[in-house]
Amino acid sequence: MILKGNFLHTPTFGTVEVHRGGWLVTQGERIVGLYDALPEEYRDQPVMDWGDSLIIPAFHDLHIHAPQIVNRGIGYDEQLLPWLEQYTFPTEARFSDLDFATRVWKAFLNRLWESGTMGFAAFATVHKQAAWRLMELTEASGLRGLVGKVNMDRNAPDCLREDTQASLADTEELICRSREELKRTKYILTPRFVPSTTEQMMDGLGQLAQRYQLPVQSHLSENRGEVEWVAKLHPDIPTYTQVYEHFGLLPRGRTIMAHAIHLTQQEKELLREKEVILAHCPLSNLNLSSGIMPLRDDLERGLRCCVASDVAGGNTAQMARTVTATVQLSKVRWMQRPKETPLSLGEAFYLATRGSGEFLGDVGAFLPGFQFDALVIRPTALDALMERSPYERLEQFLYDGGEIVQRYCGGKAVEKPFPEI
Ligand SMILES: [Zn+2]
Repeated sequence: MILKGNFLHTPTFGTVEVHRGGWLVTQGERIVGLYDALPEEYRDQPVMDWGDSLIIPAFHDLHIHAPQIVNRGIGYDEQLLPWLEQYTFPTEARFSDLDFATRVWKAFLNRLWESGTMGFAAFATVHKQAAWRLMELTEASGLRGLVGKVNMDRNAPDCLREDTQASLADTEELICRSREELKRTKYILTPRFVPSTTEQMMDGLGQLAQRYQLPVQSHLSENRGEVEWVAKLHPDIPTYTQVYEHFGLLPRGRTIMAHAIHLTQQEKELLREKEVILAHCPLSNLNLSSGIMPLRDDLERGLRCCVASDVAGGNTAQMARTVTATVQLSKVRWMQRPKETPLSLGEAFYLATRGSGEFLGDVGAFLPGFQFDALVIRPTALDALMERSPYERLEQFLYDGGEIVQRYCGGKAVEKPFPEI
């Protein structure tokens, strides 16, 4: 496939590469190259000419709760712990109904597609059948996904609190079944967070992580009340991060931890050593008054970071809004602490494309050999009134939206996954 258009991507943190009127060649799922002039050998082949459109890497969202897509925007007069009790848990209890779950999952995948998110790591619910259905639908959608059944055997309402051994058995069944029956959709271990999982549960999940070499996703130090609660639950372990480490739930290079706001320097050192990717969720941090992750400082310390929507702590699945909120929140920190320079839009965009994509494989930038995941954005009538550079077009798309006219995932055009829910 040969595409022509205005290409913009961020191959490394801090760089923005633009090819105005450039050419991108793919073969199968992967990119052969991005050129300013089409190489001779491709001159006779058909070209998909996107004219004045902007072509950028698709988004990858490494922290999102699929069932909570129905709750987006609701309940932000509360903070984390009461919000979970009042809004999150009652909604998640409904996913014992597989028909309801199926309809929500379809709407969830449609919403990611609409938002230009082609890859994700998602929490399902505690229900085995519902989690399996989300895996099957993800596979059918054409998107790339890591999906996990939530594990939760303490401090949960009766209707969601699991029997530890049954939860571990259900988890192992999903791991094995997904390996046998699915190609692209992978299992990710998903303890909700330390307060929701007993020591026996965390120990069992740590063993599964080791036995099957699986990735892990969870939450870490989102809210001060939560951090104090973890300290009370595990008085013999010095920090929140070390609780996960103690139970084998920080497998090196295979762990996503969302939020990571209130950390000690010692914890940051451990997270760096374990190559944990920290998912900064700016909209969620604001909505639940959790705090602001010191993103610039973490990046300068060599921690791996990405940005994520965290629906429904985040009020929208749109990663474009997450990128701009990342910049805006970094400016709030800068106003309070002049040493912490704010992130540029290009830096924040990297954290939503290549920065998150690297957890999913060779994806998130237009580099030779990478999977081709991309969005084609056509200028609106309003935008076309002004001559703009590709970077300015990206700025307006991220801050105010735009018309995505084509989405590619793994070298294929992806249509709306489920026209009917
Ligand atoms: Zn979350």
